Amino acid sequence: QEARLRQIQKMEAVGQLTGGIAHDFNNMLAVVLGGIELAQRAVTIDPKTAARHLSSAHDGAQRAAALTQQLLAFARETAINPEPIAAAPLFEGLADLIGRTLGDGVTVRFGDESDGWCTRADRVQLENSLVNLAVNARDAMEGRGTLTVRALRRTVAGEDYVALAVSDTGCGMTPEVVERVFEPFFTTKPVGKGTGLGLSQVFSFARGLGGDVSVDSVVGLGTTVTLLLPRERARPASSAPPMPVAAAPVA
Ligand code: ADP
Repeated sequence: QEARLRQIQKMEAVGQLTGGIAHDFNNMLAVVLGGIELAQRAVTIDPKTAARHLSSAHDGAQRAAALTQQLLAFARETAINPEPIAAAPLFEGLADLIGRTLGDGVTVRFGDESDGWCTRADRVQLENSLVNLAVNARDAMEGRGTLTVRALRRTVAGEDYVALAVSDTGCGMTPEVVERVFEPFFTTKPVGKGTGLGLSQVFSFARGLGGDVSVDSVVGLGTTVTLLLPRERARPASSAPPMPVAAAPVA
């Protein structure tokens, strides 16, 4: 019953997504084609105008490329390889990448208060999600501030979770923006910078694992995005089952 409901919700989401994508992609192509056509007409008489049209075509193409890249990431979610993941090695593997993503003006801090609790996820997807959040934080801080990534234990309604909280000291969001951040294609960023797919992707990743994402934000102070991921009680290797079993134990 539950699985069926989830299946239906997934199909709905896919339907909405593909409709939205076709529409968006078409708009981007229109920008590219229009720009090229206008440039072709102007090129012999007015090279400056031609260059301007080419640059808008370039913007459109860049935006389309970013979109397909995000789509590929979505599609890759089907070829996942879930494994038990603890915060300490996860952070160790990410510190360098996130540090380089954020640049010199941003101080990056990691804090592990998860007592070694594991979650079960595809490592690449989890890393991508955190990098996504770090990129948003960078944009919000405009190169200056502090990024804090923390792992915590959380128990909600009797279920254990590993919480991964990414906080920035950036511009924050109005309640109106917070309300829409998980919508596919919702972005406040200029053309070529944002696709509006980052947080919706993070959201579908967390939900797919039986988890959740929450956003706490104050305009002018900063934002915390928290991934809540179900705790995995990793088995000792010696008692590992001989056959693959369902990812989640039945409660
Ligand atoms: P994109 O980053 O491509 O715009 P996202 O889905 O990742 O798409 O984010 C949607 C919007 O949410 C952003 O355009 C921005 O307005 C807002 N947002 C996301 N993360 C943050 C953050 N850490 N600080 C401030 N605003 C944010």
